[in-house]
Amino acid sequence: MTAPERALGPVEAVIFDWGGTLTEWHDIDFHAESLALAQAVVTTHHDPTEVTARLHRAGEAVWGRSRDHQQSATVADLFAEAGLDHDPALLHAYYDFWEPHTLTDPEVAPMLASLREAGLRVGVLSNTIWPREWHDGFFSRDGVLSLFDGLVYTSELPWTKPSPRAFAAAREAVGVRDPGRCVYVGDRLYDDIWGSQQAGMRAVHIPHSAIPAAQIGHSEGVPDAVAHRLSEVPDIVANWRR
Ligand SMILES: [Mg+2]
Repeated sequence: MTAPERALGPVEAVIFDWGGTLTEWHDIDFHAESLALAQAVVTTHHDPTEVTARLHRAGEAVWGRSRDHQQSATVADLFAEAGLDHDPALLHAYYDFWEPHTLTDPEVAPMLASLREAGLRVGVLSNTIWPREWHDGFFSRDGVLSLFDGLVYTSELPWTKPSPRAFAAAREAVGVRDPGRCVYVGDRLYDDIWGSQQAGMRAVHIPHSAIPAAQIGHSEGVPDAVAHRLSEVPDIVANWRR
């Protein structure tokens, strides 16, 4: 599929995906994730195997609705889907399970500094069920939080990528009116590349992620450019500012 007709202008903003884009891609053991989530369950009348199986199925259901209907969810929605009560104060094990996979790529800080020096606005749009505090905390831990002009997490929106409404929310968060003046950078050809192009943006693909088959959508976009390293993004964008 070729890129849709778009009214493209000189670039004013670059918006990034998070997982597999600003972080290194890691394959995730979703059974181990469910075991960690189960630590937060306060419902006592199910056996542990049943609890873990319910959480695993709930995760598939929640992310399936994101893929097929661009419907967002929160951690609380996942437990509700599983029919289990949870205590958010008991999510430590789940947080600790994910934490090693949240490290910001060392090229992010110099890349963002370069883009900002060039007068560009920079932002994030992430499909996520996690609360803002977690994401902002990861960026803060790694010293890059203050480098972003806008951070949009779909756990705070009704929609997920590839909905054009999710991309519009990110564009508004960085203060740019025209999607044709925005670039989106991501690792998924459906959510990120096809989605941002449908929303009228240019798209840059980071092609190093092994997207699980169940997470692949109905379309794949052809990126306007490919960046094998984040440090290549400023030069790619500079070519679109002339
Ligand atoms: Mg990603």
